[in-house]
Amino acid sequence: MAAIIIDGKQLSTTKRNELAKEVEQIKEGGLLPKLVVILVGDNPASLSYIRGKKKAAEEIGVGFQLEHYPESLTEKELLDVIESYNNNDEYHGILVQLPLPAHIDETAVVETISPLKDVDGFHPVNIGRMMTGQDTFLPCTPAGIVEMIKSVGVEISGKNVVVVGRSNIVGKPVGQLLLNEHATVTYCHSKTQNLSSYTKDADILVAAVGRANFIKGEDIKPGAVVIDVGVNRLDTGKLCGDVVFDEAKEVASYLTPVPGGVGPMTITMLAHNTVQSAKRFLEGK
Ligand code: NDP
Repeated sequence: MAAIIIDGKQLSTTKRNELAKEVEQIKEGGLLPKLVVILVGDNPASLSYIRGKKKAAEEIGVGFQLEHYPESLTEKELLDVIESYNNNDEYHGILVQLPLPAHIDETAVVETISPLKDVDGFHPVNIGRMMTGQDTFLPCTPAGIVEMIKSVGVEISGKNVVVVGRSNIVGKPVGQLLLNEHATVTYCHSKTQNLSSYTKDADILVAAVGRANFIKGEDIKPGAVVIDVGVNRLDTGKLCGDVVFDEAKEVASYLTPVPGGVGPMTITMLAHNTVQSAKRFLEGK
């Protein structure tokens, strides 16, 4: 039986409509939610992601400001820009687009963003809050993945989850969020021996590796929910995920496509975090 495709675009549209209503209410309360995105250099992928973020903000009525600096911007100058937005009450979300040029220390940048405006959910304070199950800004890709699984009514509690990938922005936090939902979580990575022995045991399989067509149909347990986070560009210019879509479709119960799966939901969760931040400001928290 062919898997049901979890349509990230469709789910995003529904969520963005809900967010637009929340923004209306915030505006009625006298506050205009605003997001600033800071970009250093001209990385084409970053520019494309930022266009998506701007579109999402505009769709839901959130103000959007792009601060675009040349590659030569120093770390000190960047930290000063961040501080100025930390202290500017007109902005409720600050996002520094990664990756940064090599001369800028990413950790210093992430730690300079006020945890109260860290809508990417990367600040160690917010990561700590996520780990301890407190209300906070959740990192966007992992939070979007949990929303996608829940959207199709799949029970997470008690399930065997296997996450392939352990990056700080995707693999680790998605495993943590699914653990918070009472799944039993296994992380796999480049040093894992006999990877398919783990993936074949997964009720929910999250592939966040960054290697085209890495997970084959034979690596998937029949009936599993498969979340494909990978975004890989083939020589043909076509985008594809970490999972062989046509094979997975025949084995999985639910499957996310690339493009049109996790990507749109990531951006929608950024919009969600910005709206939640504005609400907190309005409520004076
Ligand atoms: P990273 O490169 O930071 O992490 C990749 C992970 O995959 C690492 O933990 C690495 O292990 C693991 N890995 C690499 N090779 C293997 C292997 N042979 N077997 C098992 N594990 C392996 O990538 P990200 O987490 O940032 O991103 C992953 C993918 O998701 C990329 O394609 C990225 O473009 C995409 N992405 C998509 C987003 C979206 O919104 N759709 C958002 C963010 C990312 P180790 O730690 O041992 O090196």
